Amino acid sequence: MIYLDYQATTPVAPEVEKAMAPWVAEKFANPHSPSKWGYEAEAAIDVARKQVLRAIGLEGGSVAFTGSATEAINWALKGSVENAPLKRNRIITVATEHAAVLDTCEWLAGCGIDLTVLPVKPDGLLDLELLDRDLDERVLLVAVMLVNNEIGVLQPVAEIADMAHRVGALMLCDAVQGLGRLTIPDGPDLVAVSAHKIHGPKAIGALWMREGTEPAPFIHGGGQERGLRSGTLSPQLCVGFGAAAKFAAERCDRDYDHVQRLSRAATSALGPGWIINGSTAHRYAGNLNIRRDGIDAARLLADLRDIAFSLGSACASGSGRPSHVLRALGLDYRQSRSSIRLGFGRYTTQQDLSDACGQIAAAAKAQGHLVA
Ligand code: PLP
Repeated sequence: MIYLDYQATTPVAPEVEKAMAPWVAEKFANPHSPSKWGYEAEAAIDVARKQVLRAIGLEGGSVAFTGSATEAINWALKGSVENAPLKRNRIITVATEHAAVLDTCEWLAGCGIDLTVLPVKPDGLLDLELLDRDLDERVLLVAVMLVNNEIGVLQPVAEIADMAHRVGALMLCDAVQGLGRLTIPDGPDLVAVSAHKIHGPKAIGALWMREGTEPAPFIHGGGQERGLRSGTLSPQLCVGFGAAAKFAAERCDRDYDHVQRLSRAATSALGPGWIINGSTAHRYAGNLNIRRDGIDAARLLADLRDIAFSLGSACASGSGRPSHVLRALGLDYRQSRSSIRLGFGRYTTQQDLSDACGQIAAAAKAQGHLVA
């Protein structure tokens, strides 16, 4: 199989697997127990926390582990609303955000929050003038992601955070697809990240919180994570996340250059006729969301079972519904259905990627109906 679905998840790094191994069975103590073994596990979690903090790279804040980035986003949004001063009851977000943000915001709207979902320009970028028009003293929080999971487009997070701060609002950044791949810009007050997108284990994420902006607790119980997020931490998952974060931070430049080379190789192997969805200037190179007008992308997926690629987010691919992100760019139903996402990274070889792209181009041609 040639794996080209790096936005859905990434292969676990061998270094991560090795770091986790002793914590799976041999070192099973509860990290919150006052025993020699408990303290050892707690110390390992402290090291991991510092490694994640360093990979995020922002000053003046702390990290709490969560069960996923989805949980971190739910907590950031719902906990900020709970802490909000009375007059601030508006949230602003963007139509191309991940479902973890959009669905939580919709849920909050059902509870009385005044929600604005801003459109994007045809290149997927937020129009900052539109944001400026909507910002005032009633806004509690602005939620905008760093790297879009479906189209790889980068939003100007630092400027957006600046604008939010000018009216006293908080800024939440979903940096799931950016961590370890790019520098996370300074500015956000809350940052959600996930281990399995950086060659770490699944079912662990984290929320970075600027000092003084910690959301109210979302999960109540034993008072772990300074009383902010209860529940026994998993040493194996925390250690795995820490090792993945450390390795990603150390290799960031090398991985970045590799991905740039891969992107050029993919474009050349696909040949002419493919259009990149979203901005070509402001994008992460390891995400190629492309369309070839006239093709049936779902059929392409079915014809090429030995290549793992997708039609957008894992959720969108499963539902058969056209992607909300592509719709937000203004693509019509047929254009969305002619789009595929190729995601590649650290362990993708140029040879595999070129082979896969050659097969994709040939299968597309075999469908006929291509628009030149
Ligand atoms: N945000 C983005 C941009 C993502 O790509 C994902 C994962 O698909 C998430 C949030 C959710 O992350 P997790 O799988 O840790 O809940």
